[in-house]
Amino acid sequence: MRLDTPSSRRGNFANSIREVRWELDLRGFKDVKIMVSGGLTPQDIVVLRNAGADSLGVGTSIASGKTVDFSMDIVEIAGKPLTKKGKFSSRKDVLRCNKCHSVLVIPDGSSIPQCECGGRYESLMIQYLRSGTVSTEETPAKARDRAMAWIHSSINKDEPGVK
Ligand SMILES: [Zn+2]
Repeated sequence: MRLDTPSSRRGNFANSIREVRWELDLRGFKDVKIMVSGGLTPQDIVVLRNAGADSLGVGTSIASGKTVDFSMDIVEIAGKPLTKKGKFSSRKDVLRCNKCHSVLVIPDGSSIPQCECGGRYESLMIQYLRSGTVSTEETPAKARDRAMAWIHSSINKDEPGVK
């Protein structure tokens, strides 16, 4: 059994491991091993091993280069909103106000509200692949140019917020 919890949501990971071990043992599954992963550091190893982890996946924290940590979750299957606990289900649209740069996430297809500042929300979503084929003129260079323009337009303004 693999327990995978990012460090930002770990809570008390050791207690979760003890709880799972307890429940497995109680139900006659003493042979089931517990593997843990998700933002683990070398400092976590002893604590999680003592809590009952049989194996540990330590990756990002021992990488030699600078890393970009991200994860993906299923949020919709065949058009039906569905996800695991702790995630917001359904396909979404990510919007940014063209005036104050605040960010808003809404269910995809919802009507776009007006920003409290009076500005207009614009979608940040670009479909990059369609059935495995690149379906946009977007390039890394264009994305970089757009990001740099946004950064320059944000200088000397209030820090953009996330709603
Ligand atoms: Zn605004």
